[in-house]
Amino acid sequence: MNIEIKNILAVLPKGDGYEVKETNIYIKGDTIEKIGDKPDGFTAEKVLEGKDRLAIPGLINSHTHTYMSVFRNLADDLSFEDWLFKNVMPREDKLTNEDAYWGAMLACAEMIKTGTTTFLDMHMFKNQTINAANKTGMRAVISRGLAGNGMDEGAVRRLNEAKEEMEYAKDMSRISFMLAPHAIYTCDREYLQIIVQEAKKLNLPIHLHLSEAKSENAQTMESDGISAVEYVEKLGIFDVKTILAHCVQVNEKDMDILAKHNVSVAANPKSNLKLANGIAPIYQMLDKGINVCIGTDSCASNNTLNMFSDMNYTALLHKGTNGDPTAVTAEQVLKMATENAAKALDLENVTGAIREGLKADIAILDLNCPQFVPRQNLVAALSYSANGSEVDTVIIDGEIVMENGKLTLVDEAEIYAKANEVMERLK
Ligand SMILES: [Zn+2]
Repeated sequence: MNIEIKNILAVLPKGDGYEVKETNIYIKGDTIEKIGDKPDGFTAEKVLEGKDRLAIPGLINSHTHTYMSVFRNLADDLSFEDWLFKNVMPREDKLTNEDAYWGAMLACAEMIKTGTTTFLDMHMFKNQTINAANKTGMRAVISRGLAGNGMDEGAVRRLNEAKEEMEYAKDMSRISFMLAPHAIYTCDREYLQIIVQEAKKLNLPIHLHLSEAKSENAQTMESDGISAVEYVEKLGIFDVKTILAHCVQVNEKDMDILAKHNVSVAANPKSNLKLANGIAPIYQMLDKGINVCIGTDSCASNNTLNMFSDMNYTALLHKGTNGDPTAVTAEQVLKMATENAAKALDLENVTGAIREGLKADIAILDLNCPQFVPRQNLVAALSYSANGSEVDTVIIDGEIVMENGKLTLVDEAEIYAKANEVMERLK
């Protein structure tokens, strides 16, 4: 469908930063054809009025586990062990594929409603995230969580499932893939090396949890006398394009290694705070030129997949911890949630900005709400005053997946009812 967004304030890339200006956006099929005057021969099949609206690039959630949205508000204010071993894992073992599907549907609904158009998922239920993304219209990078030792039965099965998913989704243009060794404490050395070889063969990036908790450094220090980042470097993982989730427990030397290998980091500020794992040194990472983006992690450890909330934390935390109110600016935060993430997810020629030639992934916000009045620095407002409730209309790949606050492709009430049923059963 050809869409014209008329007379709208838009957050557009300018130099290293952004400018906000009133313009028109012309979408032809799945692509932003023109920003400004109407291109010759363009006929709009749908016109969206831009008065009192703000168009922003669709946000990108760079690390999540969508199926876990059924675990929202399940286990809070507990020790990590009580949270994981007594509450999350026993229920996770009982989840069926259908349960995981409704968890992922709930996650997609929440993400779209708060302006996220793309996410990177690590999951364990074959095809379920793909189905949910496909149904709701989201763009997704899928990575089957891989855990195992060498070529044991589970290790082989999980890797095969990852490959079967690629075959399953080969005609879905909004779906792409990564290989996701879960963590260094769930994959042994041999399995990690096998995954690196597979990633090279399949030309896929790697998505890995690393240095989330202190115990990971303790493990590699004991086995090899080096940090978790050095251990992963030694295994050759960084020979492949890599995105690491967390990187809370990293030192100067670790960060230099990440910068040297162009490794991207998905910071998950709220999840790390909630589980008391600490705060990733984002300010220092940015200073070293590391490509940093933002993830929500799952609803089991964050309770929301609303990127505006994690953007707010990202903009505030590092000022406080560094005693420097200039640390991590609102512009940098928006970049992390869009362009940097697109780069990390191998989608820089696809999404991450409102730019001619990129796919049309756009969130339209209603400016008629107190948090955007008076209309001053609207980029700063996205990190400091917006809360996601302003998102009114969302376009992904040129398709309107939400209009006037309502999801267009799915029945929201059904999603909520099904997700509630899952937890009723698992109580
Ligand atoms: Zn995670």
